[in-house]
Amino acid sequence: MQRYFLNENAENHQRFFITNKDDIHHMSKVMRYTEGDHIIINFNNRQTFEAEIIQIENNSIEIETMEQLEIATEMPVSITVASGLIKSDKYEWLIQKATEMGAHNFIAIQMDRSVVKLNDQKASKKLDRWQKIIKEAAEQSYRQLIPNIKYYSNLKYVYDMISEYDYILMAYEEQAKNGESSQFKKILTQLKPNDKVLLLFGPEGGFSEEEVALFESNAHIVGLGPRILRAETAPLYALSAISYEIELMR
Ligand code: SAM
Repeated sequence: MQRYFLNENAENHQRFFITNKDDIHHMSKVMRYTEGDHIIINFNNRQTFEAEIIQIENNSIEIETMEQLEIATEMPVSITVASGLIKSDKYEWLIQKATEMGAHNFIAIQMDRSVVKLNDQKASKKLDRWQKIIKEAAEQSYRQLIPNIKYYSNLKYVYDMISEYDYILMAYEEQAKNGESSQFKKILTQLKPNDKVLLLFGPEGGFSEEEVALFESNAHIVGLGPRILRAETAPLYALSAISYEIELMR
């Protein structure tokens, strides 16, 4: 059964209207649903319902919730992946895969060594495109929420938000080169359900010394093993390790 998202709170036998154009197109033209067909809708607060299609119009599809489903596909901790801007095809690949792997939020940041430069107009166009990629990946991977994505033109803006997180990890390649291999593992064993974790990754050129200095007294500066991973690979390594530790090992 196909899954969709509605930014509403739901109870059983409640009616709603789906008005998102992409969803309407997918349901009526791609899936060719008719009245009476059933779909799955993810509502707010990770509430997931089986729903029946009541009426299909051009600009809206009326549905009724039939049964709340006991589903838990979300990672028990909330992971924010904050990455230096990298080449767009690689970043789009990263946010798609990281959505499948359970990231809850993304922050794209213009870092000192980012080759890619975005002005405000380009950034808002990119954010729309990125959010669409994330929504599709969330539907495909049975997520119960759609991760969100923000863009900041400087790492200092992210630094100003650090009090919102329980753990801040900066994945620093130089730590790896110096053989640091215990910090990441140690923090993973401390993670508790509902912890908010900020993971920081540099662009292709890595972090500048100033960027590392900005975070070094407030973040765990960690190595992710002995190999130097691409900017689009490193977040996936971290997400799979966190998932293994708190979803499979416990
Ligand atoms: N230009 C850097 C160099 O040659 O050393 C490599 C940067 S790497 C392509 C991009 C980002 O991935 C890094 O800034 C870091 O955040 C992360 N990363 C890659 N491999 C890592 C590792 N083994 N340990 C920690 N972070 C790593």
